Amino acid sequence: MPAAIAIGPGIWRVPTTRWDLVNSFVVRNTDGSLTLVDTGLRQAPPRITAALAELDAAPADVTAIVLTHAHSDHAGGAAALATMTGRGVTAHEAEVSAVREGRAPGRDEGFRLGRLLRRMPDGFDPAPVARAMVDGELLADAGLRVHHTPGHTPGHCSLLHEASGTLITGDAIWNMRSRRTWPVLAFCTDAAQTERTATLLGDLEYTTAAFTHGPEIRGQGREAIREFLAHPRRLGPGL
Ligand SMILES: [Zn+2]
Ligand SMILES: [Zn+2]
Repeated sequence: MPAAIAIGPGIWRVPTTRWDLVNSFVVRNTDGSLTLVDTGLRQAPPRITAALAELDAAPADVTAIVLTHAHSDHAGGAAALATMTGRGVTAHEAEVSAVREGRAPGRDEGFRLGRLLRRMPDGFDPAPVARAMVDGELLADAGLRVHHTPGHTPGHCSLLHEASGTLITGDAIWNMRSRRTWPVLAFCTDAAQTERTATLLGDLEYTTAAFTHGPEIRGQGREAIREFLAHPRRLGPGL
């Protein structure tokens, strides 16, 4: 099993746990350097550096670290990778303080699970922020278009790699066990908002749908997302 799985020209998925449960992504920049999208859990950095090595690259070749959002399974490796690469992270402007403080945004307490988890620790090592991104912006080096899809967290973003026609949904939609579902809604800051803003993802131009949780869908990615949006499902009862 390679550490870096090519999913399109200039873009790789990097599973950082077993069974594709948590993924990061690597994108080739126009000048040959690399952009990293998401940093996995705290123990993910060795998997990410192994993926870089497969691409004949070192942490110093990573010139940007973009976070879809400030949850510990996406930002957990950010502090260590910022140190290794010498780069601060890029996060949506609404997520900057959460990344700098190493704390996840609140959970939706409209769910019993959200209330039960109120006191459970969900932080991560605080990481430096080099750049705040905004909706619609093009991260030009990587060719990633920023699509703000708030709800899961206030600054959650999905990212469109226009050159390869690949959408990285982030936690807007999951693809665990080959089923599209909402993320665990109790983990969202505002579950109703995440369901509302995800509808945007059916309107973008792409052929591969890539997920931070679960494997990508190639070729028919947009059709699969549209089918899900027409018939959405939760991960399980109460979730
Ligand atoms: Zn999340
Ligand atoms: Zn997640």
